[in-house]
Amino acid sequence: MAYAYDDHNIFAKILRGEIPNSTVTETEHTLAFNDIAPQAPTHVLVIPKGAYVCADHFMAEASDAELLDFHRTVARIVADLGLQADGYRTIANAGSHGVQEVPHYHLHILAGRPLGRMLDKA
Ligand code: AMP
Repeated sequence: MAYAYDDHNIFAKILRGEIPNSTVTETEHTLAFNDIAPQAPTHVLVIPKGAYVCADHFMAEASDAELLDFHRTVARIVADLGLQADGYRTIANAGSHGVQEVPHYHLHILAGRPLGRMLDKA
């Protein structure tokens, strides 16, 4: 499948420095920042700096260095914020059924309170 990346999305603007963000950590290939509308006491978004639309795009086409850097960054955030003890949740929404609002791949890290069951039985 060919992925069409729209570089007008808000995370692309953050990566270009056009709008501010609350940075948690940054590496060569990855940026993590606090969600602007947190749904838990800890709500961090981790994004690759490359132009990837969604999880399968990133996982299929990112370089080994980008993939490794992204996942090691997630692990470091979990360790640095001390999230192992009480646990946390990672979520990657994709497409319309996944209710993805921003078409630049991002992993949500949510923690700091009991998060309930994974899905509503809607
Ligand atoms: P998703 O529905 O998975 O695409 O989630 C997009 C997330 O981006 C939501 O949780 C928003 O609150 C968050 N968001 C949107 N704009 C910003 C922004 N400027 N800075 C930080 N987070 C944002």
